[in-house]
Amino acid sequence: MNHKRHPIFVSTTHPPIKRRGALARLAHHSAWIALIAIFLIDGGCSERPEATARQVIPRLDPPEPQRLKIVSTTTMIEDLVRNLVGNAADVSGIMRAGEDPHIYDARPRDAEQIAEADLVFTNGFHLEATLTNIIKNNAQGTVIPLAEKAVAKPLMGNDKSGAADPHCWMNVDYFRGYLGHALEALISADPANESYYRDNAARYDAQLAELDPWIKNQIASVPKGRRVMVTSHDAFQYFADAYDIEVRAMIGISTAEAPRPQEIEKLEKLIRDRKVQALFLETSVSPTLNTLIQKSAEATGANIGGTLYSDSLDQPFQPAGTYLGMMRHNTSTIVQALQGS
Ligand SMILES: [Zn+2]
Repeated sequence: MNHKRHPIFVSTTHPPIKRRGALARLAHHSAWIALIAIFLIDGGCSERPEATARQVIPRLDPPEPQRLKIVSTTTMIEDLVRNLVGNAADVSGIMRAGEDPHIYDARPRDAEQIAEADLVFTNGFHLEATLTNIIKNNAQGTVIPLAEKAVAKPLMGNDKSGAADPHCWMNVDYFRGYLGHALEALISADPANESYYRDNAARYDAQLAELDPWIKNQIASVPKGRRVMVTSHDAFQYFADAYDIEVRAMIGISTAEAPRPQEIEKLEKLIRDRKVQALFLETSVSPTLNTLIQKSAEATGANIGGTLYSDSLDQPFQPAGTYLGMMRHNTSTIVQALQGS
């Protein structure tokens, strides 16, 4: 059980704990009745009262009610699930802060973790490419690819592969869709806690609903002509689409590919022609890719506008360690860099 991440909502009326309290009280009363009975039968003068009592006292500690085990793949999904689940189930994540989901190097424990889970929440659209077979071969519970459930018409990558772009969480409205589908799955797996999950979902959704127009307004404050950003891999298409900003990247929707020299040249020409203010680094991509972005900035005279969180949150308890914090950090970094002087 991993409690490193941060449930934002902790209920004070948690149903499993209430149930456990009632059972514990019952067991406690039964224990006293049994003790009194032994005392009366024994005439209260047994030479070894403790030994006799030990043999017949019913168990005082009833087993915990069955708790759901939930596994999430990416750090964004883990954060969403923790907000939704609160302390009613055991949540763990597979990927850690800063890890790249496209080329995630599976650990030996992953298969076991997936096999033990009642629910496995993934992004889907081939984001977790290296986990696909591990999930297929080990999952005993229900697997829910949240992006595939929430986004009926995904954007396509700019390469020729014809693959759907998996970075749907970059549009807050789509992430609200993730929440809705995660809630449905949770209720069907654990109907006893339905109202608790619904309350948590409503509170988290209210924060997402506020975030969306905030991003729109922030991006709108950048003059239209300057609203073009360059990143290392193409993770911001949904962000661009939802918040009215143009985005170009050195490579396509997967970090598994390497940039070709002619693509770098083309990108640098665009940076010069469009007088692009800033290029952005990403936390979850390879240092090589970030170095190439730095070189292109030097070659074109553009600035490095900062570092964005694209496919992973920051460490827990850091400002960008939650989805809400990550989206705010990215937006503020982009706006500050593109507004220029
Ligand atoms: Zn990506």
